[in-house]
Amino acid sequence: MKEVSSAVSARPILSLVAPVYNEEETVAAFVERVTGVLEGLGATYEIVLVNDGSRDQSLQVMRELQAHNPHIRIVDFSRNFGHQIAISAGLDYARGQAVVIIDSDLQDPPEVIEELVQKWRSGAEVVYAQRRNRSGETRFKLLTADAFYRIMRRITSVDIPHNTGDFRLLDRKVVNALIEMREHHRFMRGLSAWVGYRQEAVQYDRHERFAGTTKYPLRKMVRFSVDAITSFSTIPLQLATTFGFFLAGISLLGIVVAIVLRILIHAVVGQASTLILVLFMGGIQLIFLGILGEYLGRIYDEVRARPLYLVREVISSDDEPSG
Ligand code: UDP
Ligand code: MG
Repeated sequence: MKEVSSAVSARPILSLVAPVYNEEETVAAFVERVTGVLEGLGATYEIVLVNDGSRDQSLQVMRELQAHNPHIRIVDFSRNFGHQIAISAGLDYARGQAVVIIDSDLQDPPEVIEELVQKWRSGAEVVYAQRRNRSGETRFKLLTADAFYRIMRRITSVDIPHNTGDFRLLDRKVVNALIEMREHHRFMRGLSAWVGYRQEAVQYDRHERFAGTTKYPLRKMVRFSVDAITSFSTIPLQLATTFGFFLAGISLLGIVVAIVLRILIHAVVGQASTLILVLFMGGIQLIFLGILGEYLGRIYDEVRARPLYLVREVISSDDEPSG
């Protein structure tokens, strides 16, 4: 166990927020490495670990670490609420003047925090870490990620920087703004771009996971993208109108063609084409119903206004309230 300074402040300058979900093999190494970096910054700090309903020994490992390190606070969720919610909870509980969000799997190298803090000290209010390369990720992931950012840029009005994750530093002003936003389907990097303020980038190389596997299978990635798009754009809804006009135009043309063919060569448009058209229209209509459903479901989730997450316990060496 590395020696840590004992000066623990209830109002630290820097808060580190890390979501933890089944990271028993990683979390100790993670805390060790971030501690090394944070101790070198010459600022008071805290480490907020949000246990997102881990099913392995992560919580026990964290408790053990916390017992020896008064900088650590553990926010223990009642179950798994998801990465973005875990980050949001971290922001709720962080008390620092600046908050760094970082993954606990060591894919975001803690050494970059130094640069993030430097930029913050020289006036930036959001400092996002931008990946120079992404080692250890499949071509498929890179391609889909690229397509995703392109679509986002085209159909939303927020400019979400390419190749950024949630690894970033947020000034207290920004954190307070984000805390105000209680939407359930959260896309944090979108929200932190939406708020504005002085945004700056720091380049870094993304590493491979320290241990374990990704907790983001394809299914979750798709959900994540749909959440991102629907929370920043209503263009998919308007697509139905555009498409409707387009198809109406084409069918008008079709009518004219059919009449002309009938008069000129007595041709009758066949059964097969009728069937194809009916199926095609059915398909289009179901797709747009589905899109409507996506938005409707989200409205329903918001209207119910359930809490974003539930906390079983906050494990901390002081009992200062959050905020
Ligand atoms: N994570 C979480 N809840 C989840 C899934 C992931 O808190 O439901 C955490 C996980 O422990 C990690 C971070 O979110 O610290 C990023 O997850 P992961 O590394 O699996 O995603 P990837 O880097 O592969 O996109
Ligand atoms: Mg990861």
